[in-house]
Amino acid sequence: MDFDVIVIGSGFGGAITGCRLAQKNKKVLILERGKEWTKDTYPRNIEDEWIWSNTSPEKYHGWTDLRTFKGMAVITGAGVGSGSLIYANVSAIPPKSVFQAGWPPEITYDEMQPYYSTVGDVLDLQEVPAKQRSPRVQLMQEGAAKLGQVSPRPGRRVL
Ligand SMILES: Cc1cc2nc3c(=O)[nH]c(=O)nc-3n(C[C@H](O)[C@H](O)[C@H](O)COP(=O)(O)OP(=O)(O)OC[C@H]3O[C@@H](n4cnc5c(N)ncnc54)[C@H](O)[C@@H]3O)c2cc1C
Repeated sequence: MDFDVIVIGSGFGGAITGCRLAQKNKKVLILERGKEWTKDTYPRNIEDEWIWSNTSPEKYHGWTDLRTFKGMAVITGAGVGSGSLIYANVSAIPPKSVFQAGWPPEITYDEMQPYYSTVGDVLDLQEVPAKQRSPRVQLMQEGAAKLGQVSPRPGRRVL
């Protein structure tokens, strides 16, 4: 079988790329190393499958790929949907300063704005209502505001 595009990985990056290309009538194959989880098989209990091992995937095929390096640990998803299976559902627009260095010239704060709007629309993002904010979140918010990092007004940076 022939494909116009083969995408490796079905996380936010791969799945959306595959979707947009298919919408443009491209024939797309998405390859995913991990399993497909459903609401019935999704790991919830301690004895469920959680860990993915890149060296023994036949034995450990959970949805969390945790790797430790010198001075750094990295956690990522393994499964259909990948990071979207395990992320914390927080959507925020990075400040302009984030784009000042380290990015290709085409990727700028202004260039990205319409895409943040698209994400906001597709995910139907909502601010967390004030009464649902836990004491821990409120404490973080106050601490960050005191450091001058974010507005004390909740949700300001949420799309
Ligand atoms: C616990 C946690 C919480 C997070 N919370 C948030 C949040 O609240 N808000 C936010 O914006 N971001 C959050 N993130 C970050 C966000 O989830 C990631 O930035 C995002 O998922 C990255 O998407 P990606 O498509 O680039 O990569 P991934 O989602 O990692 O997808 C990569 C995919 O490629 C597959 N793959 C890898 N190698 C192969 C191979 N050789 N063959 C086939 N398939 C392969 C993997 O299995 C995986 O499915 C969180 C991340 C984690 C781990």
